Amino acid sequence: MSKIIVSKFGGTSMGNFEAMSSSARIASNKKSRLVVVSATSGTTNSLISIIKNSVAGDIISALESVEVIKKRHLDLASQIGLETDGILQIKKLIEELKSLSQGMFFLREASPKAQDRLQSIGERLSSLIFTKSFDTELKKIDPNFYCKTLDARNYIETDNNFTKSKPITERILKHCHDLKSRFNEDKNLHYVTQGFIGKNENGDTTTLGRGGSDYSASIFGEALEASEIQIWTDVAGIATTDPRICPDAKFISELSFKEAAEMATFGAKILHPTTVTPARRGNIPVFVGSTFSPDKGGTWIRETAQQKPLVRSINLRKDQALITISNPRMLNAHGFLSDLFKVFSTLDVSVDAITTSEISVAVTIHEQDLTNELTRNLEKYGRVRVEQNLAVVSIIGNKINHTYGLANDIFESLGDINVRMICQGASVHNFCFLVEQKDSQRAIKNLHQKFITQ
Ligand code: ASP
Ligand code: MG
Repeated sequence: MSKIIVSKFGGTSMGNFEAMSSSARIASNKKSRLVVVSATSGTTNSLISIIKNSVAGDIISALESVEVIKKRHLDLASQIGLETDGILQIKKLIEELKSLSQGMFFLREASPKAQDRLQSIGERLSSLIFTKSFDTELKKIDPNFYCKTLDARNYIETDNNFTKSKPITERILKHCHDLKSRFNEDKNLHYVTQGFIGKNENGDTTTLGRGGSDYSASIFGEALEASEIQIWTDVAGIATTDPRICPDAKFISELSFKEAAEMATFGAKILHPTTVTPARRGNIPVFVGSTFSPDKGGTWIRETAQQKPLVRSINLRKDQALITISNPRMLNAHGFLSDLFKVFSTLDVSVDAITTSEISVAVTIHEQDLTNELTRNLEKYGRVRVEQNLAVVSIIGNKINHTYGLANDIFESLGDINVRMICQGASVHNFCFLVEQKDSQRAIKNLHQKFITQ
């Protein structure tokens, strides 16, 4: 069995001719067999604006954006030297985009299914073009090497939850079985495929949610029993905190799957939160590095990290709402919590942090998930209070809940910042609390100074 490296390049790595070329050089130097790509930078956002404008009746703006996307991709394709056949495929994709946009305009409606179909075009375009760049660079290493485009939808089977579909692992493992054999039989074969997109069992195109390409790479990595998953982005690894808040943030050379998962969930922007799960299941190391400075090193995520500092990183998750549900009947009542959480799961709202007292439960959710329907359904279970403009600050590390005096140090460094809700104990890796959004950057700075810089 040969070693299979799966790598993923994000939107900025697909952004223009130079970025694509350096991505292709990295992928070929690393002898990556499967390259998963995002749409070119900004394209998914434009596609979403096309959907919005079409539905709102502004077909002029929608079609203008289509033209911008068309020109950008045709220019890129010609710089890269894509053959006529490839150019024709790009034009076909642009026609598809136009028709979808016009359909949405006439109906003044975009079903989630139609939205996914339209959004898939970004990755379908970039992967076509990048296949040619990768093929060119591969041939410089070995003239026998070659590269083809693989339609990710034939492998990443998902459920029907359009716009945030969940991959169905057993099916994906089955679909990828052949692919693995193909790689083993033909050592010269390489593929470029799309991140972010999949297909349900009816054959409809689905997407994994914004930023989902990392997740796609990790899923492919697991299914192909890859030796490594490489995530190439525009920064040289995962930092101890957001460098825009603390310019002295440092890159972390190594962290464990568990720490990485906590970081992604609690706001570190660099990885999509679910990315780590398949890699961890397959025990496949994940590397995060920069396309623009590949020699600078990056972050390795593995089952266990050699060094396990008490505090690894300080993270911020903004735009949180705190919902408190109080009901005296909750005392000793069986099944109360499970009924309550069914309300969240039915509406597909994910809960970030929870605390309970004898007669109340407090949870935080992302503000965008806060709807009248949610509060109405929760009101069946007690009095509901909602507070907004909050942020979750989390301290991720090791033995967080066993370290004497840590909480004291944390609160001391926060000074006069008011803390709303504290969660500690559920994980050895995480201590988190809520503050008002306006205080959150100051909290991050103080904690980073105290636990990382000092
Ligand atoms: N293109 C998609 C997005 O912008 C997926 C990704 O880049 O990961 O969300
Ligand atoms: Mg991304």
